[in-house]
Amino acid sequence: MTDFTSTRKAFHLPEGIIYLDGNSLGPMPVAAAEKVAAMMRDEWAQMLITGWNKAGWYQQPRRVGDRLARLIGARQGEVVMGDTLTIKVFQAISAALRLNPGRRVILSDSGNFPSDLYTAEGLAQATGATLRVVTPDEVEAAIDDSLAVLMLTEVDYRTGRRHDMAALTARAHAAGALTVWDLAHSAGAVDVDLHAADADFAVGCTYKYLNGGPGAPAFIWTHPRHAKAAAPILQGWMGHDAPFAFEPAYRPAGGIERMRVGTPPVIALAALEAALDVWDGVEMADLRAASIALSQRFIAGVEASCPGLILNSPRDPAQRGSQVGFRHPQAYAVMQALIAQGVIGDFRAPDVLRFGFAPLYNSAEDVDQAVQILARILQTGSWDRPHFHEKAAVT
Ligand SMILES: *Cc1c(COP(=O)(O)O)cnc(C)c1O
Repeated sequence: MTDFTSTRKAFHLPEGIIYLDGNSLGPMPVAAAEKVAAMMRDEWAQMLITGWNKAGWYQQPRRVGDRLARLIGARQGEVVMGDTLTIKVFQAISAALRLNPGRRVILSDSGNFPSDLYTAEGLAQATGATLRVVTPDEVEAAIDDSLAVLMLTEVDYRTGRRHDMAALTARAHAAGALTVWDLAHSAGAVDVDLHAADADFAVGCTYKYLNGGPGAPAFIWTHPRHAKAAAPILQGWMGHDAPFAFEPAYRPAGGIERMRVGTPPVIALAALEAALDVWDGVEMADLRAASIALSQRFIAGVEASCPGLILNSPRDPAQRGSQVGFRHPQAYAVMQALIAQGVIGDFRAPDVLRFGFAPLYNSAEDVDQAVQILARILQTGSWDRPHFHEKAAVT
């Protein structure tokens, strides 16, 4: 059994804060500060350029990928780190399109994150493909034999709705299409099993539930059946078979290494490694059970004490990731009032209060206190002050 009391101690949580926004940015692992300082002091400062060999910076994207693999049902040698998630989405879709050359349709849903849709749209324009976007409920019926790539985010960033990865992948394969799954709101949040789902490509970020820090590098996974055939359009030198031969023409590396692009973010990877030290002690089945308990407790509490709020997430926990949304016509101001009282969630346009639950550092007491504070803000109308209505750049 995972000891969530000890994982909680592994995070720096400011005094008096209840943090329900790990779905946007996880908190800092206490050990991350020293890990990054040690990297700077003992590696960068002392080793200079020799750190690429001596400290293993060059292999780090693969080594860290191997550490993360277990959390998403991948195996050793199948995951590599680097770049931002948007870049990895581009690489995965472009590789999938090239593996299905007779077809030109990319299918996604309107619950997908805008960056994924923008990327698919740009890629479609540049390659003569078509992006088709349907509602999440229509996805299954929209899979037909014109489809090249089904590109979905497993857990909807706004509603928390979770797609059935195995069923939709089977459906896509039966129609002759490949799948790209974005795990931005799944990795570290739910029990993902890429091999059991038989997915083709998967990507995700590490600064949300995985707690790697702001701008932490993304990951990409390719099913081993595609590892030697997948050919991303973004052909960077670090994905070359022999980067230090400096050959004029591109030759992709043998396996997942070909999904690398350029120089890896070594300092950021050090912070992420501190987060993965915490994950080493966590069983995903325990995490999922604890996450469901927290979100069910929150929904029950809010519905009992906040009559003005409407659940904006699936009620069945099996259909949900690790976040819960509630609608309120003045959601932005309500969230600002909540944050002012130390309960940090976030707002998603047009009217959603969004709360993420992370058993690594959230407890049942956190949930009860957050519900109480939210109920008081709504009962007293204390959210309705001019400064709570002022929009900041990042919501
Ligand atoms: C958070 C998120 C992103 C963000 O992409 P970055 O390139 O890391 O900024 C993209 N897609 C999804 C589905 C997300 O949830």
